[in-house]
Amino acid sequence: ANTLTVGELAEKLGKDASEIIKKLMALGVMATKNQDLDDDTIELICSDFGIEVEKEEEVDETDLNHYIEADLEEQLIERPPVVTIMGHVDHGKTTLLDSIRHTKVTAGEAGGITQHIGAYQIKSNGKPITFLDTPGHAAFTSMRSRGAQVTDIAILVVAADDGVMPQTVEAINHAKAADVPIIIAVNKMDKEGANPDRVMQELTEYELIPEDWGGNTIFVQLSALQGEGIDDLLEMILLVAEVEELKANPEGRAVGTVIEAELDKGRGSVASLLVQNGTLRVGDPIVVGNTFGRVRAMVNDLGRRVKKVGPSTPVEITGLNEVPQAGDRFVVFEDEKKARQIGEARQQKQIEVRRGDQSKVSLEDLFEQI
Ligand code: GDP
Ligand code: MG
Repeated sequence: ANTLTVGELAEKLGKDASEIIKKLMALGVMATKNQDLDDDTIELICSDFGIEVEKEEEVDETDLNHYIEADLEEQLIERPPVVTIMGHVDHGKTTLLDSIRHTKVTAGEAGGITQHIGAYQIKSNGKPITFLDTPGHAAFTSMRSRGAQVTDIAILVVAADDGVMPQTVEAINHAKAADVPIIIAVNKMDKEGANPDRVMQELTEYELIPEDWGGNTIFVQLSALQGEGIDDLLEMILLVAEVEELKANPEGRAVGTVIEAELDKGRGSVASLLVQNGTLRVGDPIVVGNTFGRVRAMVNDLGRRVKKVGPSTPVEITGLNEVPQAGDRFVVFEDEKKARQIGEARQQKQIEVRRGDQSKVSLEDLFEQI
């Protein structure tokens, strides 16, 4: 931080040193002309004189957010929605994800072996939609705890023969906390005992009221198992996406979030990323959480090698020095040296934090032993 003496400050402000000293006295500070003043005191005095000081913001070079530029409005274009499927256990989340994927992978692509990379993209009426296939709750909790938001729309699956259950409520709370629009998928409509009215009735308690009843929540009845109602659901997703006006800048710096990551025996660190802005390319120097490297290869959700991917697209990359964590942010750098420098600095910081935690724990342990 910078310091100025009383005399220097007086000169800068075009005042007499005695005036500054008077102001300081009023603040309860006895000072001489050669006294150093700290930033806060300088600011106080300036504001007393009606002068606003622009504080030089301290930049944290290791903070990845520091590299995310504001996008120019005219460069923004529509991007696909990123959808998370949530709901109580056994209400049909996995079945629905499988059903959507299988009915929508086009004939030409069907031969490709679908690859599990934590998310996939389909097309409905020519429009892409990205689905996260990590369990919705985990995606919300682990990612949101790290400040990452990847979901644009939440699908809440409720089995029509079971109704609202504890994890249904949990899912509602997550989506509401994240301020994400919710579409209700009333599932298992093929089952005897399916009672969609009951589901609607129960959900009114959570301010999820169907349009027919004067609310604005979209309900879609379906059978994930039989593939009934899937098209309606996709149509509604695109409708909500349009209202949300989801945009990104493919020309911007590539940034996004880790969906999942692991150490692969043959390939080393493998990370599934969701590109949220910009375009990610093979060869890009990259910092991912506290790891870094150069994008060596990219594989999409159909198991195909790709050279570049744009916003809202999931992709699996290799080339990182270590394994990042789900929810970590990534940022691409133009210059590999810079990426390395930032990555190493972040790693160093992490080590220090860990050390700090350890000493704290051992201190507590010590007290416990007494
Ligand atoms: P998850 O725990 O929410 O992922 O639920 P699953 O997708 O694993 O489904 C739990 C069980 O419900 C499985 O036996 C599914 O076959 C079954 N199931 C899922 N959707 C439907 C459906 O639409 N109709 C019927 N009859 N069964 C379904
Ligand atoms: Mg499941």
